[in-house]
Amino acid sequence: MKFSYKILLSTVLIMALALGVSGYLFVNYVFDASMTREVGQALDESSILQFAFETAALNIPSKYAMLQNSTIEEIGIKLEASGQGGRLLRISDEEGRFLYASEGFAQEIDFLMQIDKETRIYQVVRDGDSYYIQTGTMLDALDRVLYLETLHDVTGIYEERRQGFHIYRQVTVFMLLTSIAVMWIISGWITKPIRLLTRATKKMAAGDYAYRAKRVSSDELGQLTIDFNRMAGALEKNVEQLENEVRAREDFIGAFSHELKTPLTSIIGYADLLRSRKLDDEKQFLSANYIYTEGKRLETMAFRLLDLVVMKRGALERQEVDVSELFDYLRRMYGTIEGVTLDISYDAGQVCVEGNLLKSVLLNLIDNAHKASKENGTIEVRGERQEDGYVFSVRDYGVGIPAEECSRITEAFYMVDKSRSRSRNGAGLGLSLCTQVLLLHDSELMIESTLGEGSCFWFLIRDTNGEQVE
Ligand code: ADP
Repeated sequence: MKFSYKILLSTVLIMALALGVSGYLFVNYVFDASMTREVGQALDESSILQFAFETAALNIPSKYAMLQNSTIEEIGIKLEASGQGGRLLRISDEEGRFLYASEGFAQEIDFLMQIDKETRIYQVVRDGDSYYIQTGTMLDALDRVLYLETLHDVTGIYEERRQGFHIYRQVTVFMLLTSIAVMWIISGWITKPIRLLTRATKKMAAGDYAYRAKRVSSDELGQLTIDFNRMAGALEKNVEQLENEVRAREDFIGAFSHELKTPLTSIIGYADLLRSRKLDDEKQFLSANYIYTEGKRLETMAFRLLDLVVMKRGALERQEVDVSELFDYLRRMYGTIEGVTLDISYDAGQVCVEGNLLKSVLLNLIDNAHKASKENGTIEVRGERQEDGYVFSVRDYGVGIPAEECSRITEAFYMVDKSRSRSRNGAGLGLSLCTQVLLLHDSELMIESTLGEGSCFWFLIRDTNGEQVE
């Protein structure tokens, strides 16, 4: 059953119960109050008639010592006539024989047996559709003990009660119908955020992660909508990240197999040439040389891939290293590099790094700068102390990189000019490796380049201020 129907049903049930019980109690309260008043009146009337009878009995001159039945009847007629219309009374003797009874006074006599001298009793009796309060009392007149009964008509009060219940039933039905209509609207309004959230979850389950639930209230459900949308945002981001990772992995595998295919095709082709034909010395040398250089390229690629895998596993030990040690190493490695001038200058300082890995980053960058440089070009290697850390940069004045390629060159196997890179033993893995190493140092490789003018690669190693680095 829908939540809004549950709210509707429970409210209508509570209202029906409340209206029913309150109506019943109210009508009965009015009825009881009226009956108490009528009983009082009936008993008062009974007292008045008793007094009137006893007075009349005393005043009637009689030749007998005892009150005669005929006299009693006479008094009874007078008493009945003295009331304002329709007074009903009955007088019985000691044995319960009726001496006088108004017309229509047809009640049982068992009632009389309960009367004694001191008590005046009453009961409510029904005669067809009519209701009466029947009173009973003893009359003490000239040595005779008689019984006086009266009937007080209360049919009107019972009729009022019936009417009361009838009106209340109508009011209850009307109120329930009205409340169903009102509660239908209210429950729909209250549960609207839930409906919107349900729609959002269905959309998301169907793959629409960008869908957000509309917030229509500022209560707890409104807060739930905000939290849900926040969760949806995080989910969307995670899914996007996963998709990107899958795409990157697919690209990686595609590029890897392609990079593998090119040297392998050359190696197989030249090896086949060597074994199937008798070649002259020069051709034989050239073929063997191709096989050797392509094999070397494969070897470099295999090592770099291995490095990348190790890097991604990612644990490293950083320690304070004097930058002069790093720059001295670079000078030793590239001091006598052919065709370019290496210009190294740096501020003194210490960096918290894994020394060997940082050296490999700088070597990769210098290597790339060398490949990109023109004949007799200059490569500037700088070290600059800044407020929050130490900046390393490698600048060349070579071919430069097209702006749209800058963001992609750190992807594995990505090469701007494939034939040029391959001819220089490149496999498009060097910058990918640098990025991973810098990531482990909580840093990022920044690239500035202008096509035809040269490039600058730089990164910042932040000061750790003696904090423990993971
Ligand atoms: P590779 O092993 O091919 O050098 P890298 O990942 O180091 O692979 O570099 C990716 C590509 O980025 C290179 O193939 C090259 O096209 C381009 N590149 C890198 N450094 C430079 C640079 N300093 N100047 C111009 N292009 C560069």
